Amino acid sequence: MTATIHHTLKTVFGFNQFRAPQQDVIERVVAGEDVFLVMPTGGGKSLCYQIPALHRDGVAVVVSPLIALMKDQVDALIANGVRVACLNSSLSSGEAGRVFQQLDAGTLDLLYVAPERLMMPDFLERLSVMNLSLFAIDEAHCISQWGHDFRPQYTQLGRLRELFPAVPIVAMTATADPETRKDILAQLGLAEATVFVAGFDRPNITYTVVPKQKPLVQLSAFLNGRRDEAGIVYALSRKRVEDVAERLRTAGFSAAAYHAGLPDDERKRVQEAFQRDDIRIVVATVAFGMGIDKSNVRFVVHYDMPKSVESYYQETGRAGRDGLPSEALMLFGMGDVMTARKLIENSDNAERVKIELQKLNAMVGYAEALTCRRRALLSYFGDLREHACDNCDICTDPPQRFDATEQAKKALSCVYRVGERFGMMYVIEVLRGSKNQRVMDLKHDRLSTWGIGADTSAVQWENIFRQLIHLGYLVQDFTRFGALGLSAAARPVLKGETQVILGLPRDAVETVVKGKKRAGSRKDYDQALFDALRALRKQIADAAKVPPFVVFSDATLAEMARTRPTHSRELLQVSGVGDHKLSQYGKAFMDLIAGYGRDSSAKSLSGFPDDLTLTLSDTQKETLRLYREGLDLSGISARRGLKSSTIAAHLEELLNMGADVDLLRFVDAENVPLIRAKLAAVGSGSLSELREGLPETVSYEDIRFVRGTWNSGLRN
Ligand code: ADP
Ligand code: ZN
Repeated sequence: MTATIHHTLKTVFGFNQFRAPQQDVIERVVAGEDVFLVMPTGGGKSLCYQIPALHRDGVAVVVSPLIALMKDQVDALIANGVRVACLNSSLSSGEAGRVFQQLDAGTLDLLYVAPERLMMPDFLERLSVMNLSLFAIDEAHCISQWGHDFRPQYTQLGRLRELFPAVPIVAMTATADPETRKDILAQLGLAEATVFVAGFDRPNITYTVVPKQKPLVQLSAFLNGRRDEAGIVYALSRKRVEDVAERLRTAGFSAAAYHAGLPDDERKRVQEAFQRDDIRIVVATVAFGMGIDKSNVRFVVHYDMPKSVESYYQETGRAGRDGLPSEALMLFGMGDVMTARKLIENSDNAERVKIELQKLNAMVGYAEALTCRRRALLSYFGDLREHACDNCDICTDPPQRFDATEQAKKALSCVYRVGERFGMMYVIEVLRGSKNQRVMDLKHDRLSTWGIGADTSAVQWENIFRQLIHLGYLVQDFTRFGALGLSAAARPVLKGETQVILGLPRDAVETVVKGKKRAGSRKDYDQALFDALRALRKQIADAAKVPPFVVFSDATLAEMARTRPTHSRELLQVSGVGDHKLSQYGKAFMDLIAGYGRDSSAKSLSGFPDDLTLTLSDTQKETLRLYREGLDLSGISARRGLKSSTIAAHLEELLNMGADVDLLRFVDAENVPLIRAKLAAVGSGSLSELREGLPETVSYEDIRFVRGTWNSGLRN
């Protein structure tokens, strides 16, 4: 061993310090010990086997369940100058042959393989005569039936410890659940392994939960403030995924749908376009995400509630792997809870139903909590926090509380009067004095509680009921469509012996917008420079056919925008810049930064309507400013160093947001009626849909401009 692991960290990966517990783990593996590493997504598990692979003789064999993930890891390592290859079913036999040659020649530091390939007898045979530095097992929870993603191909991996007694094994997972962890160790036969459990906190993620009211409006309000950022929107059903994606596209967002029902090549296309920053928003069922190794996901929105706290943690964890401020927003509606319950109850495995209902209830509890979200989340994983986090909706905007004793009494007695056999919505109807058919048929208009709650709106009642359930005054019977019953705790309330204090619901849209201001205020770098760096990264990445983050992460670009390095020595100081990347890309980035310093024309903005300035991102503002200077599309695009398609998207967004821009003047006069006719025929759909059948001379930009103008005409 010639270099120290610190030296490798800096020169190969470009990082200045280890994160806890990387150094400890790496030292043990370098010494030949087994390690089991439990670390949240984005914690930095990869380095824990990649650095040892460079410090031990032989090749490291890395088992990874997903081909897409494998490919990205390999691309990222190649960009750092590491000798690496992968073997999986996507390779042609010629390509696989070349990998075997490299393997036999001993010119590989790491080899990524799919589990089924690794455990093939002839492959094991081949490995048995080779010099192996270590085995790394990524997503190790896939071996456990307890985990949330059991994969039968993983079970075979349990034989590795016996077959290769002298080769250290590093098993890794982000699964928090202690039962699953125990099972993983047992299945892999890792009796001697040192177990590292890193904290589960993801301090850079802001958690927000808002009551679901008009979900599409809420979602667009959220997305509008984040026009340049990438994110995932999770919804529960395929149909919902397609609906939401379609509506977002119609509203001018760059969005695509992703779910297991789509053809393989469409899924692949979406995934790649997202990785390459070509699509900004993916609306997906949970099928999306496992295979995504994109570090600059800035937000994760749960349009529907996830089915367990584990899934919620896992899914929100896909945001902000680069450590920059990121957001997790959940829209929470009681209707979704009922839907989820029904889905669960459809199973005929009683034990499973029980477990899943418990998990769902815990999730509802989290969503309804009036205490710090982070504390609630971490406490679920047994990580108890004394202090509130100051980075969630509850901490930054605590709900007001009010004495709800009177309303609680009304609610509880009405539940009692209808015979503890009806769900929340029905009880609310009785309380509010509804005369609908069902109420009349059941003669519930004759109850003493009929109409006693008419002064409170149905939405407010819903909120009160939810809290009463959460606080344990009411119980919901899931085997009877959520029928409400009284718990023992309800008695003293009904007798007037206890007070009930509830939280006041907050305005759902306002909370979303506040979250945005919070997140926005933390940027301490020049946004326009960052955008220019990002555009350069995209060019380089497209030319090399790799995802942009393989070139540099957002965190690295943000640091460049902050420190503005113009010499190699300075650039090397930036986290994420190692020797190989310096030599490959250093000059291009330093040139851009140096040039940017020279013509940083003061960007004062005036003449914007106030509400518009609030919602525009910096890059949109810059485009608008240049538009107002009288530049045309190619002029703006050249000045900004951004593609004209990007500028066209900005302009359409500006129009959608109410800016006074005339886009038709950028379009050839004879094309306008053609595009309008198409819009009238098929509606305001996706660009490619509209483009179909139109002459070659019509560009996507033209369509954007006419579509934007058309939509704004419809609005006014
Ligand atoms: P995990 O596999 O645990 O989800 P990764 O290994 O993909 O996480 O790392 C997440 C991100 O953190 C990557 O962008 C990686 O480059 C970065 N990273 C890892 N270790 C460090 C470190 N010591 N310093 C700075 N960045 C790091
Ligand atoms: Zn908090």
